[in-house]
Amino acid sequence: MAIISCPSCNKRVSDKAAACEHCGFLISGQDAASMAHSAQALKSKRLNKLIGSQMKSMLLFVVGIAVAFYEWSDESFMASVFEKTFMTPVLLKYIGFMLMGVGLGWYVITRSRIFNLKRKA
Ligand SMILES: [Zn+2]
Repeated sequence: MAIISCPSCNKRVSDKAAACEHCGFLISGQDAASMAHSAQALKSKRLNKLIGSQMKSMLLFVVGIAVAFYEWSDESFMASVFEKTFMTPVLLKYIGFMLMGVGLGWYVITRSRIFNLKRKA
């Protein structure tokens, strides 16, 4: 039994293990070439997912800007909403800023995860 580093997460695993105990990457029954190949496939799948996540975080940020800076009180529809509910233009601005904050934080996290994923290559 030998200790190898998992092609997917780089942590140490036994080469006799069926799958990596850290990330679930399938190890048994694969030679080095096919293992490298599936590690690559897994990596690009993760990268695509992260890029999709990054797009969503940017979208959230833009929606936040729109909500925070749009003059909602000028809309007659919104004016009636403000009249009938607890919602106020100021509250809507807060919500907009909150969305911007969450979007920005999410973007930074996704960005650093993409950076880490690429650095491992
Ligand atoms: Zn692993």
